[in-house]
Amino acid sequence: MKEELIFATGNPHKLEEVISFINLPRFDIKSLKDIGFDKDIPETADTLKGNALIKAQAIWDFNAKNVFSEDTGLEVCALNMEPGVKTARYAGPNKSNHDNIEKLLSEMEGKADRRARFRTVAALIYNGEKYFFEGEVWGEIGTELTGNGGFGYDPIFIPDGYDKSFAELPSSIKNGISHRYNAIIKMAKFLSSL
Ligand code: IMP
Repeated sequence: MKEELIFATGNPHKLEEVISFINLPRFDIKSLKDIGFDKDIPETADTLKGNALIKAQAIWDFNAKNVFSEDTGLEVCALNMEPGVKTARYAGPNKSNHDNIEKLLSEMEGKADRRARFRTVAALIYNGEKYFFEGEVWGEIGTELTGNGGFGYDPIFIPDGYDKSFAELPSSIKNGISHRYNAIIKMAKFLSSL
């Protein structure tokens, strides 16, 4: 019988990505929808680690089942590593993803240094113990939106080693090099070692 492991995210893109690369034959990965959890979990911490833990802890408190979550930020060198933990609400509390991208592109106008990274912190609560895993991918902020794939800031992030944005590259490429991949693979190795 497989062990249940919940991925505490309401983001269908994240779920699809993680399912595509996580390889944990011992575990049955369940989504929040699968477990009937549909409440919003406010991300009120001022770090990615804090927000990742808030999401995992909310589900542990709900059903005391093993759970992981993750929080991601885009950190731009020329903007002192902002927006970081504020990535989801960069243009303001009720603004769209498109507004966020427009704000970032306008902040980057005239900046020669376009280096940036996506950074993910995953939080795992396993048998009541907390564990954290971090992953990143470096690249550059493009000067315009390109591509229709992926989600979030993917149309303006060009990962190192490629000349296309994450939104233009096949999802199999993003899902083999991304911040999320690098964090979750560390967690999967840890779980496999238990
Ligand atoms: P959160 O981790 O769901 O809080 O996401 C924070 C912000 O980063 C949101 O604006 C997301 O759209 C964005 N984001 C998270 N992961 C990715 C990604 O893999 N590509 C592009 N944007 C992302």
